[in-house]
Amino acid sequence: MIVTRFAPSPTGPLHLGHAFSALTAADLAASSGGRFLLRIEDIDRSRARPEWERLIEEDLTWLGLDWPRPVMRQSDRLPVYHAALDRLWTSGLLYPCTCHRRDIEAAARAPQEGGEPVVGPDGIVYPGTCRHRHDRSGPMPYALPLRLDMAAAMQRVGDLTAAKEIGAAPVAPTEPSHMIDTIGDVVLSRRDMGTSYHLSVVVDDAAQAVTHVVRGADLSDATPIHLLLQRLLGLPAPIYLHHRLIRDEAGKRLAKRDDARAISAYRADGLGPSDIRRMVGL
Ligand code: GLU
Repeated sequence: MIVTRFAPSPTGPLHLGHAFSALTAADLAASSGGRFLLRIEDIDRSRARPEWERLIEEDLTWLGLDWPRPVMRQSDRLPVYHAALDRLWTSGLLYPCTCHRRDIEAAARAPQEGGEPVVGPDGIVYPGTCRHRHDRSGPMPYALPLRLDMAAAMQRVGDLTAAKEIGAAPVAPTEPSHMIDTIGDVVLSRRDMGTSYHLSVVVDDAAQAVTHVVRGADLSDATPIHLLLQRLLGLPAPIYLHHRLIRDEAGKRLAKRDDARAISAYRADGLGPSDIRRMVGL
């Protein structure tokens, strides 16, 4: 059975891009008698707000979508993320990082690194300053940011190229050298969060038995990280479908702050769900 999900962060109103994503995921499940799930990705406690969460559910219901309750909320699942991190820590694949953003920029721009820093899915590829600075034995230092040692992780899993992707946007390359050079040692546990988007999304897609991850092409660069984490944690890999992005008249991707294109604004203007479907080309 096909299981899809929509996984918004409650940090602002849903706009046309979100509607497209949610409708595409729900339509795929409905076309095969499958299940469509909602998951609230609220690990960033400084930005997530209950009122946004309420508005998201209202907008989705207005669009004609329905999903099983109770809804999975990531802020309830910190112990589960902790356990996954602990497993990676015990395998020697994580290390604490005490660098500030400006240290990382300075190190990545240092003359011996040569040229402009490489920018990956999470910003500048980490230059490795803390990689061998801290002891990796003993209990996991959960209060510190933890990075994945990408070279060690790729050595552990070997080749990821067998991990499949279908859909419009091809998945980014997954060869070890590419993963090391263009993604690098990503943070898997952030300070004040105790987890990260990458870790939580992988653990939760597996916990919810999601078979098809439908999301925007802007996240396709993150997919190799997710395929890697699934291998390291022994989790099944869903099929990834990266859909086109909804853009404004100037060709710019819609962002949370594009309140003018918020679904709630169209609702207030008296438009209906079929107008929204038409506007996003469904
Ligand atoms: N929570 C993410 C966002 O709002 C989406 C996660 C995903 O679909 O993998 O951008």
